[in-house]
Amino acid sequence: MHHSIYKSFFISKVMLLNFLMPSAVLFAADGAAVCTEVKKAELSSRNGSASERKCKAMSTKSKAIVERLRPGDDFQQSLKRIASEHELKAGVVVSAVGSFKTACMRFAGADAATEIQGPLEVVSATGTISESSMHVHISVSDSSGKTFGGHLMPGCKVFTTIELVILDLSDEWSFERKMDEQTTYLELAPAKNTK
Ligand SMILES: [Zn+2]
Repeated sequence: MHHSIYKSFFISKVMLLNFLMPSAVLFAADGAAVCTEVKKAELSSRNGSASERKCKAMSTKSKAIVERLRPGDDFQQSLKRIASEHELKAGVVVSAVGSFKTACMRFAGADAATEIQGPLEVVSATGTISESSMHVHISVSDSSGKTFGGHLMPGCKVFTTIELVILDLSDEWSFERKMDEQTTYLELAPAKNTK
């Protein structure tokens, strides 16, 4: 009895390894494909420094700002501080996971902000951000799992932590805002940088 259990465990372990191996090979193949592309670029370029420049350009295009916010920090103020410190011309909030003790957001169509008492899980945050302006939406869920979402306003206070990741696209883009006469709001006016 024990023997057969051991045997089936062993077989399943071997099967698991077989199952995992192809994905490991695939991963390596992906890496190899990337290396090949870089090598092709090197070979096709008579000037070696051209491919170096290409590699440098590739590495600066997708910079990220990663920061952990602390208890009591105001989420919107923290975004403003980070944008200023990094002289952010164009950023995208890609992840903000953590908790708020209070959340403050403007619901769709509302004129004023609504405050929600926590503790709340921050389940998403997304938006565009620069030194001069930002447009960020958040969603939070309460102890029953009920979720609220809206336009980020001042007053979202961190409870335990926020693990924040901002993608910095400043090498390629500048995010400004211009009045749109149709919507009567300041809307994003993305400009591609010229070098
Ligand atoms: Zn909004």
